[in-house]
Amino acid sequence: MRTQVGIIGAGPSGLMLAQLLRQVGIESVIIEQRSRPYIENRIRAGVLEYEVAQLLRQSGVGARMDKIGLPHGGTSLLFGGEMHRIDFRDLTGKEVMVYSQHEVVRDLVAARVESGAPLLFECSDVAVEGFASGDAKIHFVHDGRAETLHCDFIAGCDGFHGVCRPSMPDGHLTFFDRVYPFSWLGILADAPPSAEELIYANHENGFALLSMRSPTVSRLYIQCDADEDLAEWPDHRIWEELDTRLQHPGFHLNTGKITQKGITPMRSFVTEPMQCGALFLVGDAAHIVPPTGAKGLNSAMADAVALSRALELHYAHKNHDGLENYSKHCLRRIWKVQRFSWWMTTMLHRSGEDGFSHRLQLAELDYVASSRTARKSLAENYVGLPL
Ligand SMILES: Cc1cc2nc3c(=O)[nH]c(=O)nc-3n(C[C@H](O)[C@H](O)[C@H](O)COP(=O)(O)OP(=O)(O)OC[C@H]3O[C@@H](n4cnc5c(N)ncnc54)[C@H](O)[C@@H]3O)c2cc1C
Repeated sequence: MRTQVGIIGAGPSGLMLAQLLRQVGIESVIIEQRSRPYIENRIRAGVLEYEVAQLLRQSGVGARMDKIGLPHGGTSLLFGGEMHRIDFRDLTGKEVMVYSQHEVVRDLVAARVESGAPLLFECSDVAVEGFASGDAKIHFVHDGRAETLHCDFIAGCDGFHGVCRPSMPDGHLTFFDRVYPFSWLGILADAPPSAEELIYANHENGFALLSMRSPTVSRLYIQCDADEDLAEWPDHRIWEELDTRLQHPGFHLNTGKITQKGITPMRSFVTEPMQCGALFLVGDAAHIVPPTGAKGLNSAMADAVALSRALELHYAHKNHDGLENYSKHCLRRIWKVQRFSWWMTTMLHRSGEDGFSHRLQLAELDYVASSRTARKSLAENYVGLPL
């Protein structure tokens, strides 16, 4: 088997990269370890930046998003029992789109399958080789047969726990990370959202986030300990805690059947560089952010755009600058995204800080709420930096 670009992983980054490459006539094969139903039902992120929503439209996969997605023109910060709205449309002229990651994945898989281009599910024993010596190959087992895919380039879109990053030579990569001393306990519930837009709450019991996936499904989170035991959180305790942390005048928390419950650790992580020879890391394979700024999925898409542009430059114009500068280009954006995600996380969570740090946190929130310049900065980052 031979292709131009071998893509490992059918998450948002791998699928979008394949879609963008197909639009400019570059061949690819996607190799995914899970089944189609598994990836199409994996509940994760749900807020698309302005340009990412545009990207889906331009790539021909935006129709369902425009039909069932929820455009949001702002969000609110809740602290000291008061709500403070950040009006994205007024501050930036842009909005975000609430549309689940698994719906994005479904749209991209459908487009890929319809095109007839190869997308191989349930591949095992995936390994990369030869990428540093001009003979890039992907080995894997599919339908019980051992296969080797020869490629010009390999895109490691295989997430944080994939095989591509660990396959880079010893000493080639430097890792930067921060592990936060708290996690998020998240639920998905059959309950109409209790507010029209997201609410980010800083409460003395800890952070809470009111979010949604559709007009009938709520997505809600509460800050919990890093080593929290989910068994200690029966449904009624979660609802009580959400009600306490999100309470403000006129608020009523809609409750319903909890259909999913899980704990997400909070971590910032960046790999430098994001490439080695013909192997390029894309999305979570190279970096992860705490979910506070809603940036994980969006950053993965930004890398896919950067790599597709660099590959187009290479194939169509024999210009290798984009590929050579891929890491530099992506890291410049990702460190700004890391800064924003870290800032939102530290501003909104309680971590047993001393009185001085806590007062600084409240001053930060007060400043954002009272200064148009500060609100604009938050809004500009939230709706997304240019792709
Ligand atoms: C539980 C959870 C909740 C999250 N919630 C949010 C949120 O609320 N907001 C937000 O912004 N972000 C959130 N994120 C982050 C966001 O979902 C990711 O940033 C996004 O999925 C990154 O896309 P990706 O394509 O880079 O990687 P992934 O989505 O991880 O896709 C990688 C793909 O590679 C496949 N794969 C892995 N290893 C191999 C292998 N060896 N061979 C072949 N295939 C392989 C995987 O099965 C997967 O399909 C969450 C993440 C998790 C895990």
